This record gives sequence, C-alpha cells and structure tokens, in this order.
Amino acid sequence: MPYCRQCGFELSERAAYCTKCGMPVESQPSVTPISKPRLELAGWGERLIAWVIDMIILGAILAPIKFFRIDSMAKLHLGT
Ligand SMILES: [Zn+2]
Repeated sequence: MPYCRQCGFELSERAAYCTKCGMPVESQPSVTPISKPRLELAGWGERLIAWVIDMIILGAILAPIKFFRIDSMAKLHLGT
C-alpha cells in the first residue's frame, strides 16, 4: 500500500490524492487524470478554437430549428 509522502496516511492503490491532506500522489505515473492538452496552443488559442467549434455545433443545431419554425409558420400563415 502506498503512503502519503506529506502526512504518511495510508492510501488506496488507485488514490490520486491523499484522502487525509489532499496531497497529490506522484508515485503512480500510470494514473493520469486527464490526457495532456493538445500540443502547446493551450490558453486563449485553444479556447477560441473550442468557442468556434461550439458556435458551429450550436449553429448547426439551431439553424434547422429556426428555419423549420419560420417555414412552418409561413405555411400556416399562407394556409389560413
Ligand atoms: Zn496526506
């Protein structure tokens, strides 16, 4: 069983952090919480790309809905 190198508290095999003091367990490199950020463009560049992708996805979802609503409303209007 690994032990916390900060406080000596006994940790579980898969513990990423000490449950007592919160010290990260660095003795287990196999436990990688998140895959490393893509390349070195982390920061505003990555956020901008993520934002753009979000907008595209949002637009792709919302555009047909808007179009459908306008189209159906127009048809209803013409029908009456
Ligand atoms: Zn600890």
